[in-house]
Amino acid sequence: MTSSTAVVELGFAEPPESPLVAKNFPNKIGGKPYILSADQVRCEVCRKPMILLVQLYTPEDNPPEAFHRTIYVFCCKDGSCHEISWEKRLTTINRTLFRSQLPKNNPYWQENESDKTFIPAKQCTVCGFLGSKMCGKCNQVNYCSKEHQVHHWTLGQHKIHCNTMSKPPSLQIIAEHDNHCRKLVLFPEFEVVTEQEGNSDEEDQRDGDGNDDNSLNDVNSKALVPVGDEVYENTKVDVDKAFLKFQKRIEQYPDQILRYNRLEYGCEKNAEPLWVSNIGKPTEKDIPSCPHCGQERTFEFQILSTLLNYLEIDHLQRSSLDWGTLLIYSCKDNCHVENMYYVNEILWRQDFSEEGVKGLR
Ligand SMILES: [Zn+2]
Ligand SMILES: [Zn+2]
Ligand SMILES: [Zn+2]
Ligand SMILES: [Zn+2]
Repeated sequence: MTSSTAVVELGFAEPPESPLVAKNFPNKIGGKPYILSADQVRCEVCRKPMILLVQLYTPEDNPPEAFHRTIYVFCCKDGSCHEISWEKRLTTINRTLFRSQLPKNNPYWQENESDKTFIPAKQCTVCGFLGSKMCGKCNQVNYCSKEHQVHHWTLGQHKIHCNTMSKPPSLQIIAEHDNHCRKLVLFPEFEVVTEQEGNSDEEDQRDGDGNDDNSLNDVNSKALVPVGDEVYENTKVDVDKAFLKFQKRIEQYPDQILRYNRLEYGCEKNAEPLWVSNIGKPTEKDIPSCPHCGQERTFEFQILSTLLNYLEIDHLQRSSLDWGTLLIYSCKDNCHVENMYYVNEILWRQDFSEEGVKGLR
């Protein structure tokens, strides 16, 4: 693995100590996307609006347009859509991943010495995407789509508050109703705090091509691989070595929800994800080059299945809204596209193999 010298930045989900605000560029899961003036994206299966899964602020020095660089991952909340897309082998689910870049001077931010002012575009009050539609009765609230207008009307009690804006009942009550609506429509919001992965594991350091077998036999003998509900003791199990390696690496920080591993701009070596299985790896063809500049797309970070624990989805959804890991590939050069503040990048889903652990959560 060429990435053994790179330090991986681990992400952990925590309830925010204070409300997350756009001007602090939070790293987060759930809630509304901040500072993304993008039109609503719809699920390719059910056509419903997709919602924010992860937002990571990843500023870089090069090019200058990457001064405010953010990655947004969206997905459909409906688990059955993921099942269908999986059946059709759509491991890349297009249009769910945005790379957004803004130079230091941009139309959305004005930066003085210490003060940052954010000029928001009109956003959907429910989901945070561009709100090009407006409540026709009061002209006070924006929406991305008919669906979210309906949600806000009922779940957010706008039917009570509409047209009372001039003599509002209580801003606090409106805010509470809005939050209630968002809670039902969006994933719950958590802050992502980061920590560097320790370099204590020497196993990984000498993880050359030929070493895999030796190092893994040790693990193998301890047989910590449940297969379904049955217990295989002293039996030969066709163990997925990539999974064992994954498990060993993860268990040092079992609560991690993501691993950030993008190498520096211009760096020759590309980082390698931590595979959860020997199968289901993308081929070169699966990760096409950046359509804007022609440069290759390289691995940037991965989302782990532990993130699912924070999404407050019921068991039925849980069985289908599932993944071993989600891999994020982005343009190696952070290319800037004139008049575009965000571009699509590639998301790859890899599942645990049959031999992998089902109870690893
Ligand atoms: Zn869907
Ligand atoms: Zn919306
Ligand atoms: Zn209204
Ligand atoms: Zn590019």
